[in-house]
Amino acid sequence: MKELLKKLIQAESTPQKGELAAAEVISSELSRSGVECRIDTWGQNRANIIARVKSCERKGALLFACHLDVVGPGEARWEKPPFGAIESDGKIYGRGSADMKGGIAAAVTAVRQIADSDIKLQGDIVFVAAAGEETDSCGAKRFISDSGRMPEFVGVVIPEPTDFAIVTAHRGMLWLEVTTKGKAAHGSTPQLGVNAIASMRSVLDELENYEIPAEAHKLLGRCSMSVNTITGGKALNVVPDKCSIGIDIRTLPEQNHQDIITDLENIFAKLKSENPQFDAEVSVVRQVRPLETDCSCDFVNDFCSAVGNNETVAVGFTTDGPHFASLGAPVVIFGPGKPHLCHKPNEYIEIRDAKKAIEYYKNIILKFLS
Ligand SMILES: [Zn+2]
Repeated sequence: MKELLKKLIQAESTPQKGELAAAEVISSELSRSGVECRIDTWGQNRANIIARVKSCERKGALLFACHLDVVGPGEARWEKPPFGAIESDGKIYGRGSADMKGGIAAAVTAVRQIADSDIKLQGDIVFVAAAGEETDSCGAKRFISDSGRMPEFVGVVIPEPTDFAIVTAHRGMLWLEVTTKGKAAHGSTPQLGVNAIASMRSVLDELENYEIPAEAHKLLGRCSMSVNTITGGKALNVVPDKCSIGIDIRTLPEQNHQDIITDLENIFAKLKSENPQFDAEVSVVRQVRPLETDCSCDFVNDFCSAVGNNETVAVGFTTDGPHFASLGAPVVIFGPGKPHLCHKPNEYIEIRDAKKAIEYYKNIILKFLS
């Protein structure tokens, strides 16, 4: 497991380098146990890997759904090289060690150990590690659009780092870009232009007073909105004709993303009625629905008994879970690694935790498929 994890970290599956190398690491590992694997590639080096341990299919299949990609190492200095996969003090350091190559290595090892044993499964194990979870969920969407080849699933396990908490809910994500348009003019004659940054100021003032209408959710709390990027203007002596902001909105299960977009369009219409030169538009950069798995369903109850913990929780971060939930099966997020280490310098996983995850995943497989 340790060697597999190190190779996965060294595969450096950032948005720049793509996922193909990491997919090949998994494929050669699973092939050693005769597990049927398929690498689905597109673009330069994008890849999903799909593996399946066949059974007599008396029961529904269990899906392990992972992501192959990692975020870049960032600007801050690392104490250990981010793709070196250095082992020290019982930990393995590197980008992706926690999010989520530790979980992948544990799930792949569990699948191999089951495949190598004499256990006769009553349902298939399907394992997918998808591309692009950190950017646009392209891999998960691609897998789901091709799911006609898949059996019925009893449930989906996502081995993201939850430090072994059983996560059944998270908020959704709606990323919007708002662009105001103006008219360029020489900076010395601003009266001849329309300043897109000034228009954006009106938008920001309106957003300051705008509250997304939504009741707090019992597990997920409130919906949130934050303007996190702004760009505009090309030179100090040119009236800017364009200004954009990026808005990060985290949504609750009963909310409709389109309603929020309509609210913004209504704000723009009001601003235009006050100032005919005002011009703005909104576009969706990315959206993921919230995840809300019924905590009292059989799958969650059996999952809890398989791992010996009855507490289910909600988390602040977002996963590909809602995409996989569209397959019609309940989704649980459960894996090794501390969530607070994700996307930070000096990310690591405790080897002990990754090993513990192998046992948990085997118990889960046996609970549902034996
Ligand atoms: Zn992740």
